[in-house]
Amino acid sequence: MPICWLISEEGNHKPIRLPHLQTVVLGRGPETTIKDKKCSRQQVELKAECNKGYVKVKQLGLNPTSIDSVVVGKGSEVKMKPGQQLYIVNQLYPYTVQFKEDHSGTKRPSKEDRESHSEAPSMKAAEQAEKVSVSVSHGEATKPSESFGHWSQGLKTSMQDPKMQVFKDDKVVVIKDKYPKARYHWLVLPWQPISSLKALREEHCDLLKHMQQVADQMVKQCPDVDSLRFRTGYHAIPSMSHVHLHVISQDFDSPCLKHKKHWNSFTTDYFIESHDVIQMLEANGSVTVKEGTSELLKLPLRCHMCRKELPTIPALKVHLKSHFPS
Ligand code: AMP
Ligand code: ZN
Repeated sequence: MPICWLISEEGNHKPIRLPHLQTVVLGRGPETTIKDKKCSRQQVELKAECNKGYVKVKQLGLNPTSIDSVVVGKGSEVKMKPGQQLYIVNQLYPYTVQFKEDHSGTKRPSKEDRESHSEAPSMKAAEQAEKVSVSVSHGEATKPSESFGHWSQGLKTSMQDPKMQVFKDDKVVVIKDKYPKARYHWLVLPWQPISSLKALREEHCDLLKHMQQVADQMVKQCPDVDSLRFRTGYHAIPSMSHVHLHVISQDFDSPCLKHKKHWNSFTTDYFIESHDVIQMLEANGSVTVKEGTSELLKLPLRCHMCRKELPTIPALKVHLKSHFPS
């Protein structure tokens, strides 16, 4: 039977094991590191049903516990599944659950999985796998030697690999995308272990601005900067864990661009401009993704230059040559 883990999205402490059918009561205290007085010491009761793949969450405290944005309500019980977020109190202290096979054996994904967007939305797997394989103590960065076994953790391995690094400073590293979707495709990653857009807060604004500046520098030093256009942004629902800013030339001339979801992830609102992320963070203190965003990956193929609709990826590729002769 799989083992259930409760994972702090903010990486405030190591995953907490939820034994099968045993109630675990959590709230303010050393186990969660929550010091907030609005959070009761006995805020939630959790009971994992490992054979069924969910956790029953009961709100015990007065202030609201929620699953995603839905309040559980005092005395009420709600089922929570992997991919959902539990906020212990007042939409704060996000957690996810993960069911992991005992001596796993993490499932090896298809190559396509690793190249992202084979199955949207797939960040769920990424986020959850990450927190189990990475131990974070007192919010400090972990050593790169940690085991990043799950495929969704691949960026963490790549960012530490000198052969992949094309630039680094004290805050960020730039690597080449392993499955580039255009002639130039880099990823800017902070050294700070931030799992995804969802984990971003206002205090990360300066870091994001720095990432943007580094991205701009990458574009400037590109030998084809005069003939190619670039965009810098984030996938609304990323496949890979660890926040990464895409810097991608707009030719999309690459054998790795194989699927509609690849195309739509870079040419629809699924791709959120870095400036917009920063603006959202400054205005709201967090980044939210519109409902239905994953549906954007299914839109018909449309040229990003002239809006012409193309029936297939090969036809699109032929069409793109008219905009970007090699
Ligand atoms: P996304 O998570 O959708 O924002 O995109 C993740 C990006 O990471 C994709 O463009 C992949 O091609 C790329 N990628 C996947 N695995 C690796 C890896 N191990 N090293 C570097 N890039 C990777
Ligand atoms: Zn066109």
